[in-house]
Amino acid sequence: MLTPVEQLFSLFDQTACILQEELRCTYLEAIAETGENIFHGDVLQEEVSELNKKRLTNEYRQVQLERFANEEIRKAFQLAVLKGMKEHIQPHHQMTPDAVGLFMSYLVGKFTANHLALTVFDPAVGTANLLTTVLNHLPGKQIKSYGIDVDDLLIKLSYVNANLQKHSIHFFNQDSLQPLFVDHADVVICDLPVGYYPNDEVASRFVLKAESGRSYAHHLFIEQSVYHTKEGGYLFFLIPNSLFTTDQSDKLHAFIKEHTVIQGLLQLPLSMFKAEKAAKSIFILQKKGANVTAPKKALLAELPRFSNKQAMQVIMQKINEWFETEKRVLK
Ligand code: SAM
Repeated sequence: MLTPVEQLFSLFDQTACILQEELRCTYLEAIAETGENIFHGDVLQEEVSELNKKRLTNEYRQVQLERFANEEIRKAFQLAVLKGMKEHIQPHHQMTPDAVGLFMSYLVGKFTANHLALTVFDPAVGTANLLTTVLNHLPGKQIKSYGIDVDDLLIKLSYVNANLQKHSIHFFNQDSLQPLFVDHADVVICDLPVGYYPNDEVASRFVLKAESGRSYAHHLFIEQSVYHTKEGGYLFFLIPNSLFTTDQSDKLHAFIKEHTVIQGLLQLPLSMFKAEKAAKSIFILQKKGANVTAPKKALLAELPRFSNKQAMQVIMQKINEWFETEKRVLK
């Protein structure tokens, strides 16, 4: 007997394979096409032969999306996208790992426990795996959300993913370091694209531009995110551990100090990454504003392997205690 996630994955996979052959496209493109079809309940591609149209319709009929929880849909879609990325590497994109998304969701939930309505923004939304994980874990709140990505295939996957989960996210396919047309956010989440930003002219508009040579995209993303956050809003970044030890980090530090208060830095377990150099942390900032005060002690921790239940329980207890004392948020 297949689990619900396996059942849905198999639907995405089998129908994408039919479309991939018919449309002579990549598997990832076919995943976006089949996702559109499932959402609309029809085969939308005119090029598809009658025979394959029948085969596809037959497959789609076997599964009723309404019967699946959002998290099941997201996980099945994520598996299909991961399969596609193995076949056709997207050089600048790696989907945010599930464990990180779930942990970030937990943190967003805690920091926004007293908000009834929220605007959430991901300026490097990719496939919307991270964004929809967070949205799925904020039940009962009125949410407006925005996602931007420069890659047109990824943004297509993003909006198909959001449609299938019935999230009404506003998507923009553009460079996030250009002027943005999004509301100021209560919460920014971002698995930062790390590396050099190729457009020096755009970079020159930022305080965190490099004095000479290429600027770091991840620094500019932090600056842009802060500008698009409301006073008192929170920012959750997945950052490389080397963020504060590079040649351009002094200016970054000064910028962060001027505009935000540091709420926390949680180092993810090294075992989660292929190499120590690739290891990352979750960095939590709050934009300065009228009622914003820095915590007496920032939330600092090195997270154990998520599979180590005992060590995880100890750390979760510590984190919960921090929220009780600093934010008066009870479990
Ligand atoms: N959280 C995403 C997910 O769950 O799929 C993964 C984010 S991935 C680490 C970083 C993303 O940043 C990539 O999708 C890439 O296309 C995007 N990106 C890189 N530079 C960008 C830019 N200047 N403007 C907008 N998006 C950009």
